[in-house]
Amino acid sequence: KDFRNNVKPNWCPGCGDFSVQAAMQRAAANVGLEPEQLAVISGIGCSGRISGYINTYGLHGIHGRALPIAQGVKMANRDLTVIASGGDGDGFAIGMGHTIHAIRRNIDITYIVMDNQIYGLTKGQTSPRSAAGFKTKSTPMGSIEHAIAPMEMALTAGATFVAQSFSTDLRELTALIEAGINHKGFSMINVFSPCVTYNKINTYDWFKENLTKLSDVEGYDPNNREMAMQTLMKHDGLVTGLIYQNTERPSYQELVQGYAEEPLASADLNLDQAHFDKLVAEFM
Ligand code: SF4
Repeated sequence: KDFRNNVKPNWCPGCGDFSVQAAMQRAAANVGLEPEQLAVISGIGCSGRISGYINTYGLHGIHGRALPIAQGVKMANRDLTVIASGGDGDGFAIGMGHTIHAIRRNIDITYIVMDNQIYGLTKGQTSPRSAAGFKTKSTPMGSIEHAIAPMEMALTAGATFVAQSFSTDLRELTALIEAGINHKGFSMINVFSPCVTYNKINTYDWFKENLTKLSDVEGYDPNNREMAMQTLMKHDGLVTGLIYQNTERPSYQELVQGYAEEPLASADLNLDQAHFDKLVAEFM
């Protein structure tokens, strides 16, 4: 099982996305997947290129739309493991509506956000994850908006799996992606993935100084939603590890009537031309 391909990523040397790619490949192998059993669907941004750097089914979608495509893939073929991925601009700005609804739907896919707190592909503008006061070409006087809190947002939207990691912590990140893939429902994983070229504030050193590992928080219980929210608020969202998991809620797939019988991708739908013409005629 080798999820590496021979495409050389064109990320800047030192970009955090390299580790996310490695963690995704390792996690897929560790859970026992074959390349043809996985689909990676990505949005637009530097991180969106990841779907082309993994030896599996992949689709580099459009800006903010990785999740609708990923959900369609999963609904058509439940036998595929589906990972959606993209950046913080992709998922928390233009794609935020999709993010919230995929979360509350609890559809069985894993969503990995490479959060670098800036728009890298377009050469360094303020993103929804940039802190107030953050200066870029688009906010030369400093951003007057506050950053979105993605983990708190996910908990509020009813997420059943919420995790966060740092791209240098390959072991933790790989384990969290494995847990996300194994989770029966929507798993939301935010990864601090530094942009070494345009974000000179949220650097590797900055994260090392500011992040708290949940495994170091005494008595932390990832099954306790209230504790998860309180801990996130106490640390201003700067924690890593499994923040929350609820294994009780059924996934969207389990609730869709008739879905369990046959994946759409392999079902005989008997869609001949006459059937198609009849369907079209009904809408005329
Ligand atoms: Fe990575 Fe930033 Fe370079 Fe994009 S611009 S590849 S996010 S370091």
